[in-house]
Amino acid sequence: MTQTSQYIWHNGELIPYEQATTHVLSHAIHYGSSVFEGIRAYDTPKGPAIFRLKDHIQRLFDSAKIYRIEIPYTQEEIMQACKDAVAKNGFTNAYLRPFAFLGHVGLGVHPKSHRAEVTVAAMEWGAYLGEGSLENGVDACVSSWQRLAPNTMPTAAKAGGNYLSSQLITAEAKRHGYVEGIALDVNGYLSEGAGENLFVIRKGIIYTPPTTASILPGLTRDTIMHLAKARGYEVREEPIAREGLYLADEFFMVGTAAEVVPVRSVDQIQVGDGQRGPITAELQQAYFDLVKGQSEDLQGWLDYVNE
Ligand code: PMP
Repeated sequence: MTQTSQYIWHNGELIPYEQATTHVLSHAIHYGSSVFEGIRAYDTPKGPAIFRLKDHIQRLFDSAKIYRIEIPYTQEEIMQACKDAVAKNGFTNAYLRPFAFLGHVGLGVHPKSHRAEVTVAAMEWGAYLGEGSLENGVDACVSSWQRLAPNTMPTAAKAGGNYLSSQLITAEAKRHGYVEGIALDVNGYLSEGAGENLFVIRKGIIYTPPTTASILPGLTRDTIMHLAKARGYEVREEPIAREGLYLADEFFMVGTAAEVVPVRSVDQIQVGDGQRGPITAELQQAYFDLVKGQSEDLQGWLDYVNE
């Protein structure tokens, strides 16, 4: 499915979807020199609200800083662009894609200018890992591709080029009939999914790979850790070996697009009893209650579009 919308925010103004184009010689197309975010807005009792907008835009600017990409707008301007993109398209639920890229700045690998072009698209996007994935769980495999080593490309940056790694991981998984692929880091410990962070539960304790495991420090990961701790669970950020997945009582993946998805098997080994486990279900419910404004927003994580 290709997502569309009526309007896209493009270098400072909302323009019709068809007009948001760029040149084929854009630096980002050739060399992956872009940074971006994936953000969701949910329908709440007070109208659409964008979840953790400020944190996502901070991460966008952090990603740009790592690559010395200059975003010629303030964080507040991009936040407003996100709200405008949702409002102008009349969406209640939306996936937002703020994107800063090097455009027509010469074909040398070293760009003539680091000044980015910026777009913010909003679109409707249902369950990222497929219909029924949130309830029934998905089948995943460990990829033959490892995640980027820390001294090759920075995984804390959500940069376009990093997603060649994600494409290899997810395409291999799909070719073999799985819904998603999971990568190990260069030390052989669990890293992350092609577009998701990982949580493993064993004997009531919740484990997740540390930021040193070549992961994108996901905001859903951070939210889930927060919700789990608030419910009294012990959460440990520590290295997890591959067999930790096979021996888990529960295993789930998280991300803005994917949301909170149970994994029912890994490498054709059943995880727990092969269904969404009780702690996964509890945290999934807590997550949806929070993003949909059904529980109290104690952290101020909801940014209302119409305020
Ligand atoms: N890892 C990767 C590689 C991702 O692409 C994503 C999705 N942005 C995540 C983790 C999860 O990050 P977040 O929860 O901030 O969406």
